[in-house]
Amino acid sequence: MKKRVVITGAAGFIGSHLSETLLDRGYEVIGVDNLLTGATANIEHLVNRDFTFIKHDVTNYIYIEGAVDAVLHWASPASPIDYMELPIPTLKVGALGTHKALGLAKAKGARFVLASTSEVYGDPLEHPQKESYWGNVNPVGPRGVYDEAKRFAEAMTMAYHRYHGLDTKIVRIFNTYGPRMRVNDGRAVPAFMSQALRNEDVTVFGDGSQTRSFTYITDLVDGIIRLMLSSENDPVNIGNPRETTIGEIAETIIQMTGARSKIIYRPLPTDDPKVRQPDITRARTLLGWKPSVQLEEGLVKTIEYFKTKVS
Ligand code: NAD
Ligand code: UDP
Repeated sequence: MKKRVVITGAAGFIGSHLSETLLDRGYEVIGVDNLLTGATANIEHLVNRDFTFIKHDVTNYIYIEGAVDAVLHWASPASPIDYMELPIPTLKVGALGTHKALGLAKAKGARFVLASTSEVYGDPLEHPQKESYWGNVNPVGPRGVYDEAKRFAEAMTMAYHRYHGLDTKIVRIFNTYGPRMRVNDGRAVPAFMSQALRNEDVTVFGDGSQTRSFTYITDLVDGIIRLMLSSENDPVNIGNPRETTIGEIAETIIQMTGARSKIIYRPLPTDDPKVRQPDITRARTLLGWKPSVQLEEGLVKTIEYFKTKVS
């Protein structure tokens, strides 16, 4: 019997890659998405496979017929410009959507995997970030809608684990990039690539000295599946520890695309974290996971994709 998984947010950037890799590994996949920030174009190549798409808002009761082995809850706006434009849908999918997805997993006796984020660490005062760090989050700032929704989602997930005995997993995802991010997504890598490929100015927020640690999508998906199959219930960071400044990544993308673009500086958004780097000791030791795609290699693949999308 094939294992059946339900993936919420399956038409999004990560959800579509996760769906495809699980299909490649012999799973049946049911993708649930309301297309708020995702697109059917991301999953149309999966329709002739063991893949079913259900257009549905997961803040409402999720009905799935038959047995389910795992529920992977990926639905949520993820780009800062998306969640700042969609504050209430972001809070609802993190709170009500997580509750519904957990309820589905409980009803089916399925495993549950939550897509959490390095944003639970906020603007971190500990560096690099270990899973034991509780974070430095402004609950009432503009990013609070996302950060607090994810923190609530983690608390809800642990409550289902402790109170209902559900086998739950929490993956804290650090900045991930790759093909299928939207041209107008607004996150640093797609923004810089689409600007550079059009020879437009590249917009660096602040002075560009803030850091991020960028993970290529295939490495992330491998880590998620290892965690899903593990017996671990506490949060695990999945991210590439190579830390770069935003200024450096903007310059690298300009150079790699051969663009004539120059960097222009724009105000740093409120509460934009100054540093971010995962400590991946837990992923290494518990899951045997480490990233294998170098930044330059991942950027080349992503630029190839953006070349087909930017006009
Ligand atoms: P995305 O915007 O491409 O995908 C999110 C998907 O969720 C979209 O297809 C959207 O339509 C869907 N969705 C949103 N609200 C929904 C609802 N109420 N019902 C059904 N579907 C809904 O973003 P992404 O980058 O693929 O992120 C996916 C998940 O991973 C999110 O939970 C995000 O918080 C998490 N994450 C991503 C990153 C990253 O770097 N990409 C980092 C940390 C965490
Ligand atoms: N950023 C930038 N220019 C852009 C988009 C983003 O300088 O056009 C910066 C942003 O302020 C942040 C970093 O790049 O410091 C990463 O932003 P992103 O939106 O990719 O993700 P975040 O880590 O902030 O969630």
